[in-house]
Amino acid sequence: MINNAPGVRLAMVPSPPRWLVKLVEETGCTALEKSIHGDPLEPPEIEKLITKVPFHVLAAAADYYARKTRGNRGSFTINLYVTYTNVCVTACSFCAFYRPPGHPEAYTRSPEEVARIVREAAEKHRVLEIHMVGGNNPELPLDYYTRLIKLVKEAAPGARLKAFTAEEIWFIARNTGHSVTEVLETFRELGLDALSGGGTEILDEEVERIIAPRKISPGEYLRVHEEAHRLGIRSNVIMMYGHVEDPIHVARHIYRVRRLEERAPGFISLIPVRFNPGNTALGKTRLYREKARLDGEYDLRIVAAARLALLGRIDNIVAYWVSMGDKLAQAALSHGANDLGGTFYNEAVISATHGRSTGGKEPRELAYMLLQAGWQPWVRDTFYNYLWRPESFTAPWLLEETAP
Ligand code: SF4
Repeated sequence: MINNAPGVRLAMVPSPPRWLVKLVEETGCTALEKSIHGDPLEPPEIEKLITKVPFHVLAAAADYYARKTRGNRGSFTINLYVTYTNVCVTACSFCAFYRPPGHPEAYTRSPEEVARIVREAAEKHRVLEIHMVGGNNPELPLDYYTRLIKLVKEAAPGARLKAFTAEEIWFIARNTGHSVTEVLETFRELGLDALSGGGTEILDEEVERIIAPRKISPGEYLRVHEEAHRLGIRSNVIMMYGHVEDPIHVARHIYRVRRLEERAPGFISLIPVRFNPGNTALGKTRLYREKARLDGEYDLRIVAAARLALLGRIDNIVAYWVSMGDKLAQAALSHGANDLGGTFYNEAVISATHGRSTGGKEPRELAYMLLQAGWQPWVRDTFYNYLWRPESFTAPWLLEETAP
């Protein structure tokens, strides 16, 4: 099967308007000046954007380029979140979703059961994307995954399958005695359209050793994505912040993502994810309490810095409402983000930190958030092809605050 994702394109960075050049010059920040021309930045320069540049100038530059890059089309997709197992032997300290093997709350769904969930959702909603992930379960053979992909694709033939993190691909390969390339090729032939972005938090060895010492290393994470891109499988990348990291770690993450995109293009979006301490082991540590930055300005600076540092390389920065909450996500839409991710019906992983499901959002709620932030709302597919404009709008916070 050919993965018919639209080809990767290197966008030309449009010249900044005079008002923006003037505003940026007044800050005297060469890193910011370089960024608005699309020049690559080194980690200390990206760190400056996160920590030193006047906030309103950073926001103005990032918002200008977000809208310019996407023609003021703000977007989301209609997606179902489905997990096939919560059994995991990797035990990351920030994760409230997993259960060790043998735990009374551990589950593994049969491929048929996952397909039934997908089919029912596809009949109820006009689902465009299946977002499927799970834990590292040593009991599952390769046949389980191949049947899973096959049945899920049959259950929702009109939807794209965005599934598996780099961590899962690595684990499946090691656990079943195959290479990463073999696993990716097999999954692609069965209909895997894109990789999900999880599997790392911050692409920095120092941070990962503290929060997820048993997970693949940042270098291994990047190697899986590089191999996927070379095989024609596009991917997404998350960046989970707000725990024990310093801004330089966030800067290194963005830098490494850009370098990979230059070498082996294929990233669809970068998704900044705020850490939710809730029911997690990490959230109870002294280190987290001492280091966590909880101010919204930090979130928005990270979104803005990502937009500028990835200019011309990655066009889509997601305001992930599931982790940021509705209102901060809406603010992010004026600080460099152009997209709200999706409806995320059934989201289970971040929901586990709150002990309850967000249940997802309706398209009309996401459309309202975009419209009020000055965007033209569009429903898109996994590859950011704009499909249609929603016709109804409802403020989510008038219904129920569904996120932290
Ligand atoms: S984040 Fe993924 S790898 Fe880590 S414990 Fe949770 S399910 Fe397992």
